[in-house]
This record gives sequence, C-alpha cells and structure tokens, in this order.
Amino acid sequence: MRLHELGEFGLIARIAEAVGAGQEPVVVGIGDDAAVLEAPSAGYLLVTTDAYLEGQHFRRQWLTASQIGWRAVGAALSDIAAMGGEALAVFVSAGLPSTEEAAFAEQLICAVHEAATEHGATLAGGDTCASPDRIYLDVVAVGQGQQPWLRSTAQPGDVLLVTDTLGGAAAALHLLESGTVQNADGLPPALRECFIRPTPQFAVARCLQQLPQPPCAIDISDGLVQDAAHIAEASAVALTIQAAHIPVAETCRQVATEAGADALRWALTGGEEYELLLALPRDSVEQALTLVEAEGVKLTEIGFVTAGKGVTVVDAAGNEIELDRGGWDHFASY
Ligand code: ADP
Ligand code: MG
Repeated sequence: MRLHELGEFGLIARIAEAVGAGQEPVVVGIGDDAAVLEAPSAGYLLVTTDAYLEGQHFRRQWLTASQIGWRAVGAALSDIAAMGGEALAVFVSAGLPSTEEAAFAEQLICAVHEAATEHGATLAGGDTCASPDRIYLDVVAVGQGQQPWLRSTAQPGDVLLVTDTLGGAAAALHLLESGTVQNADGLPPALRECFIRPTPQFAVARCLQQLPQPPCAIDISDGLVQDAAHIAEASAVALTIQAAHIPVAETCRQVATEAGADALRWALTGGEEYELLLALPRDSVEQALTLVEAEGVKLTEIGFVTAGKGVTVVDAAGNEIELDRGGWDHFASY
C-alpha cells in the first residue's frame, strides 16, 4: 500500500498505536494538538532541532527506512548529550513522497521511536506532510540538565579531551561514496554499527555531572577541527590540537590505507562523528578520565587551551599542520 492510499491520518494512527502512551515526563503524547510534558522540578530544559534531508544528509540507496530514522534521532539527541543533558522526548516532522510505500514510512517513524526509547526518551509527537520528491525529516529533541555545558566556558590552561575514536564515519562515507560498498549494510562490522546507530554520549554526560564544575563541551558532528573552532570563538581562546594524540579508529586507518587517503585528516575533519570535545581545567582531568573509563568509554587528551584565537593542529614536533578545511559547512563549496 502506498501513502496516498493509507492517508496522513491512517499513518498517524499506525504510529500512535506503535508508540503507545509514552513515559514520564510525557503526560499526553501523540494524539492531541500538542504534547503535554511535566516540567522538571529543577534545572533547565534543553531543546534542539535537527534537519535530515535526502540528498543532503543521506542518500536513499544507502540506508533502510529504519536506518534513516535511527541516524536522524542520533544526530538530534547528540546535541542534548553535548549540553550535559539527558533525553526526555523527541518530535519528528516528516515530509514523505505520497508515492512512498506506507510500510516504509511506518518503519521510518517507528525507528525514530525505537531510537528515542533506546536513549530514555519518548516519541511525543510530530507532523506529517507530503513532500514533492525527497524524504525530509526534522527531529526536535527535548532534554533536561542541571547545569548546561556550554561552548563558551573554555579557559586558558584547560585541557582538550575527546571521547571514543575518530574517523570511522569518514571512512564509512568514503566506502559508500566510492561505491566500494553499495549500502550501509555492506560496511565492515566495526563501521556499520556506528554508522547506522550513532550513539549520543549520554553516558559521558551522566557520569561527568560529578565534576566540580561543568565542562566546556561540543559534539563534533561537523568535524573535530571545525567544531573546535566554535569553542575557540565562543570562549575567545585559542585551541591547539596535537595530531599525534588523536585517537584514530583502527578501521579508519585500514580503509584510508587501502584508499590511499590520510586517516588523520579524516579523523580531524570528517563529520557525523557524534563524539564530545571537552575542555577541562587540568586538575579535573584525572577525575574525568576515571569517571568516563568506568562507563567503558575511551577519553583521550588531545590538546590544550591558551590565550588567543582560532584552532591550530600541530604534529609531534610542534609544527603546524595545514588543513584545507576544518569540517562541514552546508553553504560552503569545497
Ligand atoms: P494538527 O493538525 O493539530 O497539527 P496532526 O493531525 O498533524 O495535528 O497530528 C495529530 C497528532 O499526531 C499530534 O499529536 C501530532 O503530534 C502527531 N503526529 C503527527 N505526525 C506525526 C509523526 N510523523 N510522528 C509522530 N507523531 C505525529
Ligand atoms: Mg499537524
């Protein structure tokens, strides 16, 4: 059955049935004019929206309906984790071609719910409309946090740290774009999982609540160097990244070697990584390493903050490494 046969309200009814009533703090989820959420008794609400557009963020032939939903939610929730928050609710506006299979649309939206649930949130509403040809998703994520983690609080003397390993997403993208693999299911296992189910670092956000002060943080969804530049700008400081310390993913190295590409550059500038870049006072680093490693997440010191401006990447000898671009900018042409 196609969407024009099922109709907007038929699709919404199927989604509502699959999602059910939802969980705290959602009092009223799908079904009324707006969702009703219980306000947190303390702290802040965190709200973010993330667009996920066919042709721009993904290619249709690379992903299944369910993978599209998971990736869109991972990207949106990563911004909540980057603010040091926990996830409460997700909303999705979906523009879908009316010629699309109804089952495809249902799988996609149900995956949005599954991914939200995986991270402790509920799909609490959305909007549905016909799109002329491409799939368009907009995911709104709502979270809460005690003290928001900002881009603007890095200080000279701070240490830069990054979670997990880098370059996996760039390697996956290379394999897809070069046609080495036909779709995400064809990726090597170590790349496949992180590509189709990007994991927002909520575990890190949770455990680092114990630090004496909230870290300066950003998720590196546009690429490490570019997102580091956002911290430098917002905090009015200079960031130095030590290339030799970058935790380049092993599979990224392998794929880069086979492709004759530079794994380090992929790790420095590849987007869709969803790891966190943190700036912390030196005397908090040991505690942060202990807390994060206890969660089974790798945390690596990769540089430092000084007075000044901008981001410099240096090699082991301290010489600057020139990069032609730092990451992803939707309106720039490279
Ligand atoms: P309205 O006309 O007031 O915008 P809709 O008929 O669009 O209401 O939506 C009815 C209910 O279904 C609302 O609770 C809305 O949040 C929910 N909803 C609509 N589309 C989606 C979707 N794609 N995913 C989840 N919930 C949806
Ligand atoms: Mg509506």
